[in-house]
Amino acid sequence: MPVKVGLLALQGAVGRHAEALAACGAAPVEVRTADQLAAVDALVLPGGESTTISMLLESSGLAETLAARLADGMPAFGTCAGMILLAGTVLDGRPDQRSFDAIDVTVQRNAFGRQVDSFEADLDVAGLDDEPFHAVFIRAPVVTAVGDGVAVLARIDGRPVLCRQGVVFVSAFHPELTPDLRLHRLFLDTAFGNAKEN
Ligand code: GLN
Repeated sequence: MPVKVGLLALQGAVGRHAEALAACGAAPVEVRTADQLAAVDALVLPGGESTTISMLLESSGLAETLAARLADGMPAFGTCAGMILLAGTVLDGRPDQRSFDAIDVTVQRNAFGRQVDSFEADLDVAGLDDEPFHAVFIRAPVVTAVGDGVAVLARIDGRPVLCRQGVVFVSAFHPELTPDLRLHRLFLDTAFGNAKEN
């Protein structure tokens, strides 16, 4: 049975994540309700607008189920807005914006400013030693502080942009927008086995 990986589909683009997960052998499932969330083995929180996703999580009744499943150790991969939603602390957020404290990091929204609204960079990623990961950043957040249990897997100008704590991964960039499957694979391997321990 392939691993069922939910894609939080309240706002933002999940199509490319679904393709990447399927190419890794997982079964992607769009998640819009608490029942759908209860039925998946893991969750990808995509890019989009974290304030909007936060609001929709509350209005759809998903927020409490999400908080409970994360507290219970559900593997999760948050990309860009998804990273903001999984963080412990959010800087420059809206006052009513919720984050779920699934990884002990502080993130600053829109940290790269207007001049470099969107950019691409080749990242050296710990554990992916063969070649750099080409990363697409879109109005990206950055990690400004990490707790003791957090591994920083990649940085840009010294600032963390890819982190892991246990089975929770966060990236400031959009790994689904390039054909490189290595980060989706690393997430699945870490969460469900076949992991090369680093
Ligand atoms: N700036 C957005 C936010 O704060 C994130 C951008 C993205 O997900 N590409 O939610």
